[in-house]
Amino acid sequence: MYSIEIIDLKFQQAEKTIASFLIRGKGKPVLVETGPHSTWDELKGSLGRLGIKPSDLGAVLLTHIHFDHAGAAWEFAKEGVKVYLHPMGLPHLANPERLWKSAAKIYGDDQMDQLWGPMETIDESLLVPLDDGKTITIGDLTFTAIHSPGHAIHHIAWKLGEVIFTGDVGGVKIDNGPVVPPCPPPDINIEAWKSSIKKILDQHPKKLYLTHFGQIDNPEEHLSQLVKMLDDWANWMKVQFDNDRNPAEITPDFMHYTSQQMKSQGASKDLQSLYEYANPSWMSVSGLMRYWKLKSEGRI
Ligand SMILES: [Zn+2]
Repeated sequence: MYSIEIIDLKFQQAEKTIASFLIRGKGKPVLVETGPHSTWDELKGSLGRLGIKPSDLGAVLLTHIHFDHAGAAWEFAKEGVKVYLHPMGLPHLANPERLWKSAAKIYGDDQMDQLWGPMETIDESLLVPLDDGKTITIGDLTFTAIHSPGHAIHHIAWKLGEVIFTGDVGGVKIDNGPVVPPCPPPDINIEAWKSSIKKILDQHPKKLYLTHFGQIDNPEEHLSQLVKMLDDWANWMKVQFDNDRNPAEITPDFMHYTSQQMKSQGASKDLQSLYEYANPSWMSVSGLMRYWKLKSEGRI
């Protein structure tokens, strides 16, 4: 038996935007997701309150290497804890400079520290790549790596018994808000994403754990809503792409569109702003526009 603790990292002082998961079985505890480095003190404090030091962990599992999921992984590696991830993500954490620069291009240099904090190199001996379907066992906990591209090519959903930690491929849902797909550049691929969702459904999970945010008790319904919203957003963006509009013009319209969607599902203004922290609209505009561009060029 094991327990799963949802740790709220209180990203940008907002609750329920980014989670990290502590799993305790009979052996050493395991952490799924580290969050960004900007919430490291929050994470370390929460682990401390649970009686755990970073060096006590048996493993850190990452769903993918985006900053909001993996930015603090190097702190655990510094303590000798191994970090498990997708083979395509490994070089980026061994050598984070390029990742940092490409993020700075998206967010702006001045925003990087406040949003994400520093990212240091992880020694390759502590980075363990897992192929699709491979497992890692820590004590009595066995996790299976489900390669699941669509949101990011280096994405893994981690299966533990009847639950799956879905990272971002399982979408974003906060409280009673709608299920939405986070679509940042550069890897968005709608077809691949839908295949990954099918792959997750084929495992018949009883529960999902979303990094943004928390436990989902109705995986089938949740994922079918995600597919619908993925198509809806992609189709909306296709019209903008076909009309040759630029992202700066599209973003306010997209925000208006999604805010109407949220309102119609009963989401309050406050809840909408949490969604914006977890999954900024301008980023989805940029990611989906890139998807349609690459598709129109026959590159995906
Ligand atoms: Zn994310």
